[in-house]
Amino acid sequence: MLTTLRSIVQEVAAIPSFRDALDCLALRVKESMGVDCCSVYLTEAPQSDHVLMATEGLSKSAIGIIKIAANEGLVGLVAQREEPINVQNAQQHPRFKFFPEADEEAYHSFLGAPIIHQRRVLGVITVQHTEKRPFSQDEESFLVTLAAQMALEIVHARTRGELNIRQENKTPALSGVSGSDGFAIGESILYQPKLTLKQYGMFPTKDPKEELAIFKVAVRNTRQDIATMAERMRKVVPKDAQSIFSWYQQLLDANSLGAEVELQISEGWTAGSALKRVVEQYRIQFDLMQDDYMKERIVDIEDLGNRVLAHIINDNSAPKADVERGILVAEEVTASMLAEYPAGSLAGVVSQKGSRNSHAAILARAMDIPAVMGIGDLPLTLLQSTLLVVDGYSGEVFIAPEGAVLEQYSKLAEQETKLHETMLAEAEAPMVTLDGVSLNLYLNAGLAISQDTRDDIPCDGIGLFRTEVPFMLRERFPSEGEQVKLYEQILKNFHPLPVTMRTLDVGGDKPLPYFPVQEENPFLGWRGIRITLDHPEIFLVQVRAMIKANATLGNLRIMLPMITAVNEVTEAKRLIEQAWNEVREELDTKVAKPLVGIMLEVPAVLYQLKELSTHVDFFSVGTNDLTQYMLAVDRNNARVAPLYDNYHPSVLRALFIIVTECGGLDKPVSICGELASEPAGALLLMAMGYRELSMSAKNLAKIKWLLRRVDTNEVESLLQDVLSCQDPQQVHKQTEKFIETAGFGALLRAGN
Ligand code: PEP
Ligand code: MG
Repeated sequence: MLTTLRSIVQEVAAIPSFRDALDCLALRVKESMGVDCCSVYLTEAPQSDHVLMATEGLSKSAIGIIKIAANEGLVGLVAQREEPINVQNAQQHPRFKFFPEADEEAYHSFLGAPIIHQRRVLGVITVQHTEKRPFSQDEESFLVTLAAQMALEIVHARTRGELNIRQENKTPALSGVSGSDGFAIGESILYQPKLTLKQYGMFPTKDPKEELAIFKVAVRNTRQDIATMAERMRKVVPKDAQSIFSWYQQLLDANSLGAEVELQISEGWTAGSALKRVVEQYRIQFDLMQDDYMKERIVDIEDLGNRVLAHIINDNSAPKADVERGILVAEEVTASMLAEYPAGSLAGVVSQKGSRNSHAAILARAMDIPAVMGIGDLPLTLLQSTLLVVDGYSGEVFIAPEGAVLEQYSKLAEQETKLHETMLAEAEAPMVTLDGVSLNLYLNAGLAISQDTRDDIPCDGIGLFRTEVPFMLRERFPSEGEQVKLYEQILKNFHPLPVTMRTLDVGGDKPLPYFPVQEENPFLGWRGIRITLDHPEIFLVQVRAMIKANATLGNLRIMLPMITAVNEVTEAKRLIEQAWNEVREELDTKVAKPLVGIMLEVPAVLYQLKELSTHVDFFSVGTNDLTQYMLAVDRNNARVAPLYDNYHPSVLRALFIIVTECGGLDKPVSICGELASEPAGALLLMAMGYRELSMSAKNLAKIKWLLRRVDTNEVESLLQDVLSCQDPQQVHKQTEKFIETAGFGALLRAGN
């Protein structure tokens, strides 16, 4: 049964045309269940008609003609009840509705199952028999299982179909995941090399010498291309983000991939075939790896292989950098593809495969290019030279948008730019509310070079420097010396303002390529401080580097992530003290001692603030993880994404309790999670009593502009209202109403 189910799902999934896919579904179900009739009805929107879309058994001329209203017929009943209905004699059922055009007089027994995706009924699949006998429990289970599996396929097939046959007034949209925030509108630039290694054949050669010479020239040319890309990226992204290019160069080295290809050539294969064979062997090895991050690195090897192949066969088909603000679209956008375009020439990025972890997504964020990753299977040629809208916030891509969608996004993009300009004009102004309350606004930093200089973004310092990014972009742990250099640069750039550096917070969704951690449940596993306390050698090197960098500057504050228990703090502080003594001895001078604080991001610490406060100098709330752990919702799981909500009344109450209690303990507390970057979030946090907010550079000017225009008393009454709300939706309604009524609606919509 499982094999039949799988083969039906796979067959349907492989068909590009939506109609053909549905026809195939009806036929395959009829055959495999041995029934007399199978039909598929689809529903455009809740409460709308169920339209017959495919049938094997009813009159084909009724396809598209039979429309069953939501409250009509057995099909309507299946959808209404959202459960299967199995009747022996359909025609005697009170809900039976006769459609003369269907030719269904001969059928008696009826089984229908709803097709439901994310709580929404997409349609109904029915099977019918001429005999008057109920369908068996097995048959019922089969149809229900199949309908559940088909739901997602129907969503995908519909999108593929919509791209093929454009419907009036409807903009097809593809959903992926956000790779990099922002809106982009532009013409697609389809990146499709003429020939890839996958398509290349296996050709023997009688002249390995000649093939070896061809391969060497191709490698030399590829090296040159990579050097050019690295040079181009040097001006755009931090040094760390460029390590991908040195990795490419290393792979091409005589003792790496290069040597393996040469061996294959000497065994009688042409340069291209030898390369194909070696890369395929790598693919097999990487597929076996458990670690997702490592698995993704095969993409880089294949990309490099295709680049060498292009030189072997003299294929120059890759789009060149003369496009004006286009949107790069590829099956798998790679870091090196991005590097082919001069800074500013790409407006957005859309990748069929990949995730937020991909190097390309990390680079896109560093380059501030909106990106959507993982839009899934569809023939990419459908996106050739098409106008696209990329919503890097929601992870959606709109194809050939017209009318309302284009208008809405053009407005949003324009507002985002305008908003930024308006806000920047006030960036230097003091952060004081209308009623004279002062706040400090800090920067969340750690990736893009452009964001890491104080002159660019007026702020009160860095509230969160995520140190793990430089670790993630390397092929090994950075040395103490490398870390000192990096930290010194940041501390100096912002001196004398405080810079809060968080110790390594890897694990969870931030794996290190060279330190794989395989876990069933990584977010509840070996993460943050848990890893670094188990590996004091890693922690000590990092903390020593921070203390060294800060030796004469004195603006460093060290912050510990993922703290769950007091003993983690005392142990980490013991190591910090040890590192400080070591550095003092080594430098033989007076060395500034940093303040030490912890992140409040695990619910357990809410109940031990008093005990913790005796060991630390400050607290900072990580609302991203606090929300994840309080609501038990994986922050990266698209399926439960609607449940992940910072505005859940319980999260807001927890935040209120934290700030109130910290006030009583006289311990400074700030916010460094995303909530502080959002207008509604910043307002509520301010009303709760938070006076230190840390956020991404992009949002800092906006939040300042807003907070300078409000009166804390007014926002306090909003806070009282939302704290008594029952669910996040009510909170959103209330905050949106407040923002609209206060006249900030239009300006604040961009990016939210
Ligand atoms: C947080 O959890 O809110 C936070 C700031 O840390 P990160 O997003 O890096 O986990
Ligand atoms: Mg966190």
